[in-house]
Amino acid sequence: MKEVAKLCIVIPCYNEESVIDITLDHLTQKMSQLIEKKIIHEDSKIVMVDDGSSDNTWQDIMEIVKSNRYAEGIKLSRNRGHQNALLGGLMTVKNHFDVTISMDADLQDDINAINQMMEAYYAGAQIIYGVRSSRETDSWFKKHTALGFYRLLRWMGVDSVYNHADYRLMSRVALDSLANFKEVNLFLRGMVPMIGYKTATVEYKRSERVAGESKYPLRKMIEFAIEGITSLSVKPLRLITFTGWFLFILSIIISLYFLVVYFSGNTVPGWTTIVMSIWIIGGVNLLAIGVVGEYIGKIYIETKERPKYIIETYTRDMHEVKL
Ligand code: UDP
Ligand code: MG
Repeated sequence: MKEVAKLCIVIPCYNEESVIDITLDHLTQKMSQLIEKKIIHEDSKIVMVDDGSSDNTWQDIMEIVKSNRYAEGIKLSRNRGHQNALLGGLMTVKNHFDVTISMDADLQDDINAINQMMEAYYAGAQIIYGVRSSRETDSWFKKHTALGFYRLLRWMGVDSVYNHADYRLMSRVALDSLANFKEVNLFLRGMVPMIGYKTATVEYKRSERVAGESKYPLRKMIEFAIEGITSLSVKPLRLITFTGWFLFILSIIISLYFLVVYFSGNTVPGWTTIVMSIWIIGGVNLLAIGVVGEYIGKIYIETKERPKYIIETYTRDMHEVKL
């Protein structure tokens, strides 16, 4: 029989003081059950990554750690965003566990799916994606913008798992491979499918946030979408080239028409055509420069190789267990 795996659940937390206690209660129960059923090793942990919260999240984490044998915490030096916080947590724990599961702090991801995830892991999968089976609890707006986003990604040639956010199991082997991706601009759900290995998906029903507010308002969602596309695809640049070709061919055709009109002596002061040309060509030009600029900006940031996260401190005996 295979040895039971040591599991680490990694949870990025940003201003989550209102949910962290409830989440930990649920997860602790779950851990105990899993250990009892010999699905996971008794030294399994729940690691919360405080992403520079401005509320009492870190104090709460330290409090929880005192009375909870599974809980540990990592405090980042400042707010770096969900993706960086998650990667920081995963990279910190990866050498000490057989498997990690990443999930949000708000219990929107059904923790009962962990059982199926572990099953799939024992069956040989290295990466297991939690996939939402329904979006009933989402608003009409969120549902449609999210679906549109997946479609757009696919069209741009990005291989992302449909309806999968960042609820996912990754084995140590998969995490070691992820560690080789050096990029500073992170879009984990697009990067992980590039790793390969045997994968599986587990469906779950996503519920509403237990408490607190979403940290992803529309503005952040749009930024995240742009980040995802520009990080994983150069199709926008190609689209510019196509637009350029299209306008070029169009201009030849139109020029022929202009010449015909000129030689037939019918030229009139064409105010409308001139003004339209100026605006359209000017607009397309600016757009094209903007898109190219986005990529140059990314190259600029990437070349600096700034740290993606800085760890300020750990809880309790995390130094001793060398997490
Ligand atoms: N989060 C984070 N840093 C941030 C924003 C969010 O670590 O700057 C965490 C947050 O605490 C939560 C997860 O990322 O655990 C997902 O955030 P949220 O639930 O607000 O997003 P939504 O589910 O609404 O998309
Ligand atoms: Mg959430």
